[in-house]
Amino acid sequence: MRARAVALLTGALLAACGGGETFRAERLLAMGTWVELAIAAPDDATGARLVAEIETFLRGFERDYYAWSPDGELARLNRGLARGESVRVDPALAALLRAAQRYGAASGGAFEPAVGELVELWGFHSTEAAPTRPPDPASIEAWLRRDARIRNLAIDESGSVSLARGEPMKLDLGGIAEGEVVNRIIDILRAAGVENALVNAGGDLRVLGTRDGRPWRIGIQAPRARGVLGIVELASGEAAFTSGDYQRFYEFEGRRLHHIIDPSTGYPVTHTQAITVIAADGVQADVAATALLVAGPERWEAVAQALGVDKALRVDASGRVELTAPMRDRLQAGIDASSDIIVVGP
Ligand code: AMP
Ligand code: MG
Repeated sequence: MRARAVALLTGALLAACGGGETFRAERLLAMGTWVELAIAAPDDATGARLVAEIETFLRGFERDYYAWSPDGELARLNRGLARGESVRVDPALAALLRAAQRYGAASGGAFEPAVGELVELWGFHSTEAAPTRPPDPASIEAWLRRDARIRNLAIDESGSVSLARGEPMKLDLGGIAEGEVVNRIIDILRAAGVENALVNAGGDLRVLGTRDGRPWRIGIQAPRARGVLGIVELASGEAAFTSGDYQRFYEFEGRRLHHIIDPSTGYPVTHTQAITVIAADGVQADVAATALLVAGPERWEAVAQALGVDKALRVDASGRVELTAPMRDRLQAGIDASSDIIVVGP
């Protein structure tokens, strides 16, 4: 997770339009990504208190849910798993691990949070150094031969996590963490009585209510060009998440090598440029975007169904767009230059 293009038209949000509310706009850096907030708070003091609460939450979250942070919960779990120990984790992390395991199974292994070592081999774990060349194929082969898969994890009711079978694994929640972040911020806002808001973590977002009485509108970014593929209106509570090969990548001998890895080959996906998913839940949308990107031309629709997702858009390696019927019904073509559109996908 590293800084991606900032896509929210923040300036537009600060203005109170046509008798509507004033949105408090804030940008907080977390996990290497800008988390942008637009909150219609009842008053300034409440807005400031909410932003402070969200900032505290983000500081704890990036420490605890980033596998390579020196002193967080997930890092502690990974150290224990590497030694074959059982580790008790806090209830929120246990719940997210259960969800990750469930989604991993439903996706047929396309979503695989036990890719930590693979991600390290490819060099996409660091928030600072960017990789420049692929790993030795023998190290990828060695990973593939091992059975490091989240299905081998046992998570008991008390939150104790251990290896039920298989081999030690390194968990990486990078494919689900932004969904969890966005959900938890939405929960904080809802609990405070906020009715209208937008939470945008580097182009992955979720909305509450409306903006000046109209649905929040988002644009889906074209992976290889400036501009958008289309515009979608979101209902209250909906999330729009994108996974793409253009978020973190480098080129090596004419190949584009990026941060989403097919666990069945050990290599970055080549058949898909981007997936955008709209769902009623941030975690579900986040997982599905990653899983559908890995699933590929033959399987993406079936995997969407298995994950309970009906609105998905896929851009294949040649730039051709495929989409589900419910997504097509939502998608509005064209772009009105004066409109206040938020572009999803970094
Ligand atoms: P996202 O942007 O949500 O698609 O997440 C991408 C991140 O998830 C990567 O940076 C890796 O940390 C991790 N990841 C890579 N490949 C996979 C995979 N097949 N399943 C789950 N997580 C993955
Ligand atoms: Mg994801």
